[in-house]
Order: sequence, then structure tokens, then C-alpha cells
Amino acid sequence: TLFSRVPATRIEVDLDAIAANTRLLKQACTPQTSLMAVVKANAYGHGAVHVARTALSHGAKWLGVARMAEAVQLKNAGIDAPVLVFGDTLPDRAVAATGHGIRISLTGPNAARAVNAAAGAARTFVTAHIKIDTGMGRLGLCPGLNMDQTLADMRSMMQMDHLKVEGIYTHFANADAVDKTHAKQQLALFTELLDRLDAENRLPKIIHAANSAATLTLPQSHFTLVRPGIALYGLCPGPGVDGSTLTPAMSIISKIAQIKPVPKGFAVSYGSTHVTDRPTVIATVPVGYADGYPRRLSDTAHMLVKGHRAKVTGRVCMDFTMIDVGHIPNVSPKDEVVVMGTQGNSTISADELADLSNTINYEITAGMTGRLPVCYR
Ligand code: PLP
Repeated sequence: TLFSRVPATRIEVDLDAIAANTRLLKQACTPQTSLMAVVKANAYGHGAVHVARTALSHGAKWLGVARMAEAVQLKNAGIDAPVLVFGDTLPDRAVAATGHGIRISLTGPNAARAVNAAAGAARTFVTAHIKIDTGMGRLGLCPGLNMDQTLADMRSMMQMDHLKVEGIYTHFANADAVDKTHAKQQLALFTELLDRLDAENRLPKIIHAANSAATLTLPQSHFTLVRPGIALYGLCPGPGVDGSTLTPAMSIISKIAQIKPVPKGFAVSYGSTHVTDRPTVIATVPVGYADGYPRRLSDTAHMLVKGHRAKVTGRVCMDFTMIDVGHIPNVSPKDEVVVMGTQGNSTISADELADLSNTINYEITAGMTGRLPVCYR
């Protein structure tokens, strides 16, 4: 039929890699610690529903997302596992999610009061995890600024009739760094708060802190649940983590749209930033910044053709990017192009593209905008 063929440019996700990474992260923990697969931002561009199902069948028990709409997408796909929404949620949406296994995060007593009132009006209750800001400087109660106030706020939230405080958590700002000093300070503050709550018999059942980096390098932060994201996708969180045992799951594959033998002095793409310095062959690849291929890769990145590296020539356009294939024998139209991934003995990694575009691997995969279809293998 008209649409049955695989499109020219696509994201390919290796679900076996997701499965292997999930198992590896689970093995980094003791059996008492559960694993929450963080599948926000469409599973960092990999497709939330497929990744969630794969992670759940290889040891994950929970799912984590940033927005309620992402939790609803998982539930509409028929996924039973509990889902925690990390971001703030409007009270009426929190109430509507109750009963579907969705938990919300609460950042303080004001947010809790609003949710409690909405839940009371609906004669129901909302299950929540309280977010503690131990040094991320983003969301949550700040015990580092005022421990007694944090405890008082927690007591008042736990006493609200229509809230069930199931969990308490914090998030590391620097667990991926080589120097773990800041992560350990965050952990010490979190532990102090947990001890104070325990002394009052108010410790919530589920306690969590670890992102990928902490899951792999700070076992003392595992508590009852770990929340890895980037490592599930096979990518290294940062310089303080050895990512060599992880398997990258995402590739971006395309096909040459046109091949053009050109003379010396031929100008390529907007701004004519690239003018050929010799007769060569230019191939046009149908991937551009509207797909998530960063425009900052203009004139710098490489793609793979027949196992050879071919340099991006000229500016990345919205829908197309040109590469110089003059040094590669017998290139023909419709040859496969690996924009990211492995071909033969060569690899273009998310890290390489991130370094060249002055960002992090997270932004490369999560930046895939949804225009490219995701295929699974
Ligand atoms: N937990 C929370 C609250 C997050 O916001 C994130 C993502 O940034 C994660 C866990 C997963 O982090 P990472 O992808 O570094 O493992």
C-alpha cells in the first residue's frame, strides 16, 4: 500500500539494547531496590510506550515521566505499572489521574493544600511523593535552608485527609561528575531528613534519589527505588561514570536523495559557507534540523556511507543536509546513510554529535522532534 514502505529517514531503536541496559541497571542494585524506568520526553526520543513495555518486562517495576500527559499516554496504551509524574500537576488533573496508578509529585504545602481540596471535593484521595530539594535548586522543599520548616511542612502535608503520601525523593545535580562531593552533600542532607522523619515514625514507604549516574556509582543512594533515564538508552550520563558496558539503543538511518558530481568552486547550502576546493561528489541526505539534527553540526559532523565517514558540507537545512562523498568509491543514489549509529566498523555516537554541537547526549536523542518515525528492531 501507499504507506507500507519504510520511510527514507527514520529512527531505529534496538529494544534488545533497552532490555540489556535495564537488566544491567537492575544488577547494579540489591534485590530490595526497585527500578523506575524514566521514560519522559517520549523516552528521550526512543518512544515511551515501547521502551516502557520493554523495561517492565526486564525488571523495571515503575515508570517516571515529567508531565501528566505523558503518564496518560502510558495508561491509554494499557500499561498497568505505577507511574510517577515528576513535574507539577494541576489539582483537577491530579484527581482525575487517581485510580489509574498515577502518582503525582508535591513540591510543598501550598501545592498539597490545592490538591487536597480538589480531592476532597471529588470525595477521593491522591497518592503523592514529596519532592525534596537537597541541592538541585529546582523543585521541592529545602531542608538545607530550613530543616525544621521542612519537617513542619511535611507533617502538615502528611496530615491532609485526601492525600496519601507514599514516597519522598530528591534529585542529584552533579552525580555524573568525577568529583562526588556535591552529590554526597545532597545525600547527607537527604539522609538527615529521613532520620528525623523516622524518629517521628513518619518515614514514607518509598524513598528514592538515584538517577543513572547515582545508580551506577553511588550505591548508598539507592534506597527503595532508583530512577535511571539516560543509561537505559545506553548512553553515559557524564564524565564520572563508566558507560562502556551500556548499549546505545538509538540509530538514525537515512538514504541519499540525490548525488551530484561537482567541480572545484561549487557552493553548497545556505550562506554558501562551503565552497568545494576540488572536484568532488556531493550527496543530499533527507534529514535536517526540523527532525532534530542540530544545525550546529553544519560544516563539522560526519555521516556514514558504505562504512566510510563523509563530512557534512555547508549548513544543515530544515529538511536536508549535504555530505561530501567524493572519497568513497561507487556511491549510488539510495545508498544507506547512517546519520547516527554504526555501519561496518565505523560509529557516529550521540556523544560525538553532542560534543560537536556543544551539548549533551540527552539533548541529541530527546531533541528528535517526532517528525522522524521510530522503527523497532
Ligand atoms: N529523576 C528525575 C526527577 C529526573 O528529572 C530525571 C531526568 O533528568 C531522572 C530521574 C533521570 O535522570 P538520568 O537520565 O540522568 O538518569
